[in-house]
Amino acid sequence: MNDIILLKQGEIVLKGLNRRGFEQKLIANVVRRIKPFGEFKVYALQSTIYVEPKDDCADLDGAFEAIGTVFGIVSYTRAAACPKDLDAITAKAIEYLGDEMRGAKSFKVETKRSDKAFPHSSIEISQYVGGLMAEAFLDTEVDVHSPELVVHIEVRDLAAYVHSAPRPGAGGMPVGTNGSAVSLLSGGIDSPVSTHMIAKRGVKIIPVHFFSFPYTSEAAKEKVIELARLLTPYCGRLTVEIVPFTRIQEEIKDKCPEELFTIIMRRFMMRISEKIALYNGCEALVTGENLGQAASQTMKAMTCTEAVSSLPVLRPLIGFDKSEIVLRARAIGTFETSILPYEDCCTVFTPRHPKLHPVLSEVEEAEKALDVDALVDEALAGIERVRLEVGE
Ligand code: ATP
Ligand code: MG
Repeated sequence: MNDIILLKQGEIVLKGLNRRGFEQKLIANVVRRIKPFGEFKVYALQSTIYVEPKDDCADLDGAFEAIGTVFGIVSYTRAAACPKDLDAITAKAIEYLGDEMRGAKSFKVETKRSDKAFPHSSIEISQYVGGLMAEAFLDTEVDVHSPELVVHIEVRDLAAYVHSAPRPGAGGMPVGTNGSAVSLLSGGIDSPVSTHMIAKRGVKIIPVHFFSFPYTSEAAKEKVIELARLLTPYCGRLTVEIVPFTRIQEEIKDKCPEELFTIIMRRFMMRISEKIALYNGCEALVTGENLGQAASQTMKAMTCTEAVSSLPVLRPLIGFDKSEIVLRARAIGTFETSILPYEDCCTVFTPRHPKLHPVLSEVEEAEKALDVDALVDEALAGIERVRLEVGE
């Protein structure tokens, strides 16, 4: 019998009638994620998902690490399988968890018995195995209240499994169970985090980046692609839509009041993002905006930017402090790339005194100097798409 990986599903177990669909999606996402590590059988039984290697060539360590970024899993653990027999379970626990037992001052055994036909109760199993383990590891005391190590035994339909503390999973809901959204991805710290947060709620993401060549360099574009690549373990494969933005910015600079430059530019980002979203059947836009962080992120400014979109604009970072965003960026592994010093289109032609509290009617008036539809269509026609597979 081989080691296996056991996954506990998160909130999806609460979804009643939809549960089956959620579970299928999670299984499909896990299968896709661990494919590079060999052949596995992945199936669900009693709200646990089992990942079993089909042969000895499978890289169980690699699969185990990869599973840590799949949304929809609350915890996961490697477990050793053994026959459903008290002595076989004890022998397996002593062998498999020997190092951890020797390293711990105290332990207890906790048993779950989902096979109700098994002739011993959970308590009997725990007592039996715990007693023999205490004899085998004389320096490790039994402590049922606050043990350092919990030895988990699960007696299930096909076999018994032994494991120690599960690791926390990525949480959230399986990507693809909650619709899809366009996420505006700049090269900064915030937008990779906002993208991650919305993907975590089960949303399939299409990243969109506005690119102002030659004002922003090829290296700046590569940086954004790298950020998207770092997000693929969470989001699954991504196609980054890179929108040429230079002409729009030049037109705004030439024809609109300087103090409204940023707000008008951001309205173009919203219009184009909405078009891409609707074309792809997405239901929302996502930004890394954060209340008061910049002139374009006051409430009045956001009123003006979202006025051009019929889709809801999700701003998961709206109430965070920068330090909280940085913590998350570090945790998901995007921070170091985000702080590389490349320019973003938002820093091109930045007004000296941007209007902090723009009035919608004034902004609309100022935009009359532009052929908005033609500019949007031209940008959409020039989109470059970059496909990224997970972990490529
Ligand atoms: P980030 O927040 O990621 O760096 P920022 O702190 O520089 O961006 P802003 O420049 O004000 O903040 O941008 C606010 C939001 O607008 C970003 O979080 C992102 O969602 C979107 N955005 C800004 N620039 C771009 C761009 N070049 N392409 C796509 N989206 C962008
Ligand atoms: Mg920001």
